[in-house]
Amino acid sequence: MEAANSLVTPTRDVFVNIAPWMQAVFYAMILASLGVLSWQVWARARLWRQGQPGGSERDWRLWLRRLATYALSQKRVHRKSLGAALHVLLFSGFVVLTIGTTLLMIADNGPVNFHHGWYYLFYELTMDVFGVAVCVGCLLALYRRAFGRPASLGHKRRDWALLGVLLMLSLSGFAVEALRLHFTQVPGSIARWSVIGSAIDMTLLRDLDLGTTRAMHLGFWWVHAVLVAALFISIPVTRFMHVLTGPMNIATRPSRAMGALAPLKLEDVEKTGRVGVASLGDFNRQQLLSLDSCMECGRCEDACPAWASGKPLSPKAVVVNLRDAMGGKRNGQPLHGAVISPETLWACTMCQACVSECPVLIGHVDLISDLRRHLVGEGQITGSPAKAMSQVARQFNPYGRSPTDRLTWAEGLQVPTVESNPDFDYLFWVGCAASFDRRAQKAARATVQLLREAQVNFAVLGREEHCTGDPARRLGDEFLFQELAQGNVETLNTRKVEKIVSTCPHCVNTLKNEYSQFGGHYTVQHHSQLLTELVSTGRLRGGMKSNGTITLHDPCYLARANDEADAPRVVLRTAGGTISEMPRHGAKTFCCGAGGGRMWFEEPQTQRVSGLRAKEAMGTGARTLATACPFCLNMMSDGMASTAGGEQVRVVDIAEVLVESRAERPTVLPAL
Ligand code: SF4
Ligand code: SF4
Repeated sequence: MEAANSLVTPTRDVFVNIAPWMQAVFYAMILASLGVLSWQVWARARLWRQGQPGGSERDWRLWLRRLATYALSQKRVHRKSLGAALHVLLFSGFVVLTIGTTLLMIADNGPVNFHHGWYYLFYELTMDVFGVAVCVGCLLALYRRAFGRPASLGHKRRDWALLGVLLMLSLSGFAVEALRLHFTQVPGSIARWSVIGSAIDMTLLRDLDLGTTRAMHLGFWWVHAVLVAALFISIPVTRFMHVLTGPMNIATRPSRAMGALAPLKLEDVEKTGRVGVASLGDFNRQQLLSLDSCMECGRCEDACPAWASGKPLSPKAVVVNLRDAMGGKRNGQPLHGAVISPETLWACTMCQACVSECPVLIGHVDLISDLRRHLVGEGQITGSPAKAMSQVARQFNPYGRSPTDRLTWAEGLQVPTVESNPDFDYLFWVGCAASFDRRAQKAARATVQLLREAQVNFAVLGREEHCTGDPARRLGDEFLFQELAQGNVETLNTRKVEKIVSTCPHCVNTLKNEYSQFGGHYTVQHHSQLLTELVSTGRLRGGMKSNGTITLHDPCYLARANDEADAPRVVLRTAGGTISEMPRHGAKTFCCGAGGGRMWFEEPQTQRVSGLRAKEAMGTGARTLATACPFCLNMMSDGMASTAGGEQVRVVDIAEVLVESRAERPTVLPAL
């Protein structure tokens, strides 16, 4: 009868060969497993709810956009070769097979059975293709874990079981299909759309009689059904949990600019008496959810300069250890000391490499910053960084120099100040490093020369300029940061500043992305961006002198946190340089080691990030290393000096390169 039906219309009885009581048992089993799954997820959600309210986005349109970009298109997964390939296969297969099975259930139980005709044929083909995707993905994942598991990839014994269940689920699905095709004697013109099932039927089942295949079908059908239930139950207790929590984290994570930290509300501190995060309940709920979305892929650890330079910080371990403290094997342990050591927290350069690599958008830097705030609140910041911060508090710069020395960098340049030139267009925010660090001063002087030649109407604040507070905020001293930010915003607003340019990406980031939290709204540009604009409008030109081959070290807070990798390259090319790129460049740049307040830490030569980066730069063969940040300038100069052969490589700012190229042919400016 079934065979006769198939001759007429391409379709199938969903529960062919399954007695009604078996169908009832099946539905009961699936509902029970979904119940267990929901109960386990609810238990985790209760743990997330111990956190502080807030911290998440509630904008549905934003949620959908993010889900489309990061969950559906797997934007950040397309980065590693084998790992990416197998994840895309598993993800696409899982999604399509889940949708397909749901449609089948709807067609079978709904008012209209649409499971026939061309839809049916296309359905069968699609399910087979994506079933193969899951099989291949599982085999690749098993191979990778058995023979080429990267050190950073998390692994537990239950991963074998999970992959085994997935593989068996797909294979048993194909077996059920092949056996059904055989004993229902589906005609070839229809059966061939079930490509894998009909291939098995025609090869392995060819000589079996109908009764045997009918009995085998029943057996495999039950195996398949039990595996489906087992998969549901295993989701919350395996890394498969990220299938649920990953999209939730992607949708709800805060939408601050990458380089901006969340402000600490002083009224909250007064109310609770707590600064930063001392225990899990001090994180917000979204942060606790994010811990459960980690699938331990290790991408963050692979990108981390602290980890690469042998420091006791792995961003993956930070997330996993915090998660273990939330009902796992570290449950109940104190966060500070037992779960995360102070050395781990201080090792972070806040380069954002981990954040930009994470496929499920976990905010490692926010976690670390919140924990650092507690350490600072408890007076646990000591030594050179503590000294630098007390100098910021007393003299408004971490170098401990008198505010009256703020203009010594500009000696002989007659740089206009906001007093001598109150009608300026651009405020040149010099920054503490370029004001007081000898090496960085040269970059500021070169920038002034270029601004002058391009007839840019600018001024500096002079002694009215105070540290932006970037190092204080990244180190966790939020009170000091907020004091500085409020003071600077008041100065900038009093001076009616609208446009700011700075050679320091950290100052740019803070002024542009964080001062808005305190009422400061300005158009802020990095000097590479303004110089590029001046070049494109013909107000600035390159010179005759070729600058040869140059390699560019992209500052993290320019290329990664503020998405600007082109402008410094335009400046170098204008200067006649040929750029030889390092393997890690642009948004994938590797930190110099100074960020996150690390500039003010003493560290052994063997653990310096700058040494690793110097070797990478030397690998390009370039004799000039250009950068666009006063801290990178300083760190990379040290890194080169302490690396064999590095003394042959000059470390310069992009503005210096442009000035040098023009030494032999001053620009003729077009009229303004
Ligand atoms: S911000 Fe940079 S240094 Fe800090 S954990 Fe992430 S990758 Fe490592
Ligand atoms: S935090 Fe993100 S990048 Fe790091 S292991 Fe977890 S999922 Fe992967």
